[in-house]
Amino acid sequence: MGLEEKVPSGFLLSTVETLAGFARKGSLWPASFGLACCAIEMMSTAGGRYDLARFGMEAFRASPRQADVMIVAGRVSQKMAPALRQVYDQMVEPKWVLSMGVCASSGGMFNNYAIVQGVDHVVPVDIYLPGCPPRPEMLIHAILALHEKIAHMPLGANRADAVRAAEEAALSARPLIELTVPRR
Ligand code: SF4
Repeated sequence: MGLEEKVPSGFLLSTVETLAGFARKGSLWPASFGLACCAIEMMSTAGGRYDLARFGMEAFRASPRQADVMIVAGRVSQKMAPALRQVYDQMVEPKWVLSMGVCASSGGMFNNYAIVQGVDHVVPVDIYLPGCPPRPEMLIHAILALHEKIAHMPLGANRADAVRAAEEAALSARPLIELTVPRR
């Protein structure tokens, strides 16, 4: 992505990483994107009481081209999934996704064919926020965790190494659910 790809790995790249991480974490612009009841909590987080403006995030952008963080607030229906993916694709790089609430993260109580059983089937998720609904304090905590992740995001050659290591770890991980044959 531009200049950062050209910086050779080593001391200079680490310095650029630190500066870029600091600037990026303090300049997130969320896309306006609410799907269900969780969106009410997200909206109240931007209000005067919880004051998302402290992090420079109170202006939810109406255009995905002006946004770099998507807060998936609510259940994702099968019909909505392509639109969600389109919004994600139109957002500028680098971009991050926060899955807000149990419905967005896993389908929650809507264990049926109409609801996507986890938005990570549609877009890559950076932070999962549990709860039904998560309170604004919990959303702010998740945003601070996202800030921490962004501040330490590797760039250039370091990013390629990190992606490779994550892929190898994912491939070598044991499945969470072991299929067992019932005894007779
Ligand atoms: S997690 Fe709870 S509050 Fe959020 S969309 Fe699902 S049902 Fe609604």
